[in-house]
Parts: sequence; structure tokens; C-alpha cells
Amino acid sequence: MVNDEIANKIIVAIDGYSSCGKSTIAKALASYAGYTYVDTGAMYRAIALYTLRNHLDSNEDIIAALEKIQVGFKRVPVTPLEGEPEGVVQHVTLNGEDVEPFIRTLEVGNAASRISAIKEVRAFLVAQQQKMGEAKGIVMDGRDIGTVVFPKAELKLFLTASPEVRAQRRYDELVSKGGHPDMEAVLADVNDRDYRDTHRAESPLRQADDAVVVDNSFMTREEQMELIIDLFNKTLDKLD
Ligand code: C5P
Repeated sequence: MVNDEIANKIIVAIDGYSSCGKSTIAKALASYAGYTYVDTGAMYRAIALYTLRNHLDSNEDIIAALEKIQVGFKRVPVTPLEGEPEGVVQHVTLNGEDVEPFIRTLEVGNAASRISAIKEVRAFLVAQQQKMGEAKGIVMDGRDIGTVVFPKAELKLFLTASPEVRAQRRYDELVSKGGHPDMEAVLADVNDRDYRDTHRAESPLRQADDAVVVDNSFMTREEQMELIIDLFNKTLDKLD
């Protein structure tokens, strides 16, 4: 199906564990569909960065700081690799500053996992995320998109992969960014983050009853895209 043939727009909610490739798939689907991609993890990471920079530890201090925090997105052109089309990526902003270069570390990821358990932080970001989906035509990924943010999303995907496969992917990503991670620490971090995300009182990570589960431990990116584009087109067909 060609992008501009898509008349009826839908919301695609993609949830799943950390490092299971949600953002890669979500970005690719958004670009296929001509939709906007929203990385909600980046929004939690931006708030986490604020708390680290300002040495805010207690929940009270973090909640009080919310009125001083603005999280947004900025479209940034990417320099294409040879032979690839020009593109635009979304970078998260914190009070207007492009903080994308600072939010992808283990430290910020862990802080994001901690602050995301605070009810007020979630309410602050969920309200903003729901606004972004008002016009539909959106692919949003996170932990609670199909359960809390858009419980009526037309297509819900729940991505999963074994902790070992996810740790290896995270390890490779950190190495590709010039890091020197310790594999055992990366795996322990994946397991800790899974535990916190699934056991918190507020909006724990869980699969929505009507989500399609995709275990991509042994799937290539192309196989996943084929499956997901097929699900997307079938969902659109059902709207007619
Ligand atoms: O997806 P990402 O690893 O960037 O998310 C960072 C952290 O933010 C997650 O470990 C999770 O605790 C939290 N998060 C969340 N709800 C979302 C997105 C992310 O609680 N919708």
C-alpha cells in the first residue's frame, strides 16, 4: 500500500521489554505509513536527566520539579548514508535543549526506570502523549501505550525477546557508540529493569489482552517488518 493511499489513520501502540528493538520497528513502521513516531522512553529519560543534573533524589523533590520541566520533540535532519534517502529523526528536548546525546546511557536508563514509577510523573507524560495521538497517524512505543495511554489503539503489538538476546543487543549498541561495557553488568541491568518495569504499582509493563505478541529473539529485522506491515495493512482493511 502506498503511503498517501492511507486515508483512515490509526494509532499503533508498541509495548515491550527494554532493548527488544521496539524503537527500530516503530520507526520503520512510521516511515512506511507516513506516520509520526513517538519514543515515550525518551520522554522518561529526559525527566530522568533533569533529576540527575539537579541532584533530585526524593519523590517529593521530583514531583515539585515537574512544573519547571518541559519535554518535547524536535525534528532533526539526518545525513543519509550513501545511496539512502534523506531523512528526519525526532530528538527529545528538555526545556528546549536537544538532550538526545545525553539520554542513552545506562545511568539515565536506570534513573528513568526509577522515576517512571512515580504516579505524578506518569500522569504528566501520559497527558502529553494522549494529546499527541489526537489526530491519530501515530506509532508510539513504550511500556503502557496499549494498556493506559491508548487502550483503544487500533493495533497493539507486544514485543519480546529473551533477556540474553536483549543484553547482547544492548552490549553491541554501547560498543558501537564507543563504550566498553561489561556483559555481565549489562545482563544484570536488563533483568533489573524488567523486574522494576513489571512490578511497579503504577502502570506496570504488561501485555494488553488484545495485543499481538511478537517474540523476535530469532527473527531478522526484515522478518519482523514483513509481519508488522502485514498486521498494519490488515488493521486498515478492517476499518473500511
Ligand atoms: O524504552 P526505554 O528503555 O528508553 O525507557 C526507559 C525507561 O522508561 C524504561 O525502563 C521504563 O521504566 C520507562 N518507561 C515507562 N513507560 C513508558 C516508556 C518508558 O515507564 N511508556
